Amino acid sequence: MDIKNIFENNKKWIAEKLKIDENYFKNLSTGQSPDILYIGCSDSRVTAEELMGVQPGEVFVHRNIANMVANTDLSSMSVINYAVTVLEVKHIVVCGHYYCGGVKAAMQSTDAGILNPWLRNIRDVYRIHVDELDGIEDTEEKYKRLVELNVQEQCINVIKTAEVQRAYNDRKINVHGWVFDIHSGKLIDLKIDFPAILENIMKIYHII
Ligand SMILES: [Zn+2]
Repeated sequence: MDIKNIFENNKKWIAEKLKIDENYFKNLSTGQSPDILYIGCSDSRVTAEELMGVQPGEVFVHRNIANMVANTDLSSMSVINYAVTVLEVKHIVVCGHYYCGGVKAAMQSTDAGILNPWLRNIRDVYRIHVDELDGIEDTEEKYKRLVELNVQEQCINVIKTAEVQRAYNDRKINVHGWVFDIHSGKLIDLKIDFPAILENIMKIYHII
């Protein structure tokens, strides 16, 4: 991939879009009203729009290493706040993926420098689910399960925020946990029981 080709690709993309709809960019510039907030990993193999088959304007996207929703991370907290209170999205998706380098790094005893506090959030997920994870002998299976449990815990972090709790009370906003399997290309719904988790954690985290 030559970086110089990107501007040529862009010209071709504009022409393709205008061939289908001459007002495509005019309409796109009028504003956005996406129904979904997608929180995913920065991994170059896991593109948000392409794997869901959606177009520009349909999904509000936040990506970081290992699709984390760290409680003190101003970036993800701002994205959630804006998506829920201004864009009024109907769904929030946390999408992890198998073979995630961030999750793998958190399972290893290495000093990752500035990444240490970020990866520690994943180690905290391991600690919460240590009994289940230590019971899995196969390293790859353990790694895949940690990816799933990390998605679940990040969904819980989404639910801890005041704006999501308010949006749930007012208009029943939904939170979904998904995993993208790079090996097969499949998107898997972890079918997280959102109302049950909500009821359970609200005893501690309810703000509204
Ligand atoms: Zn990843």
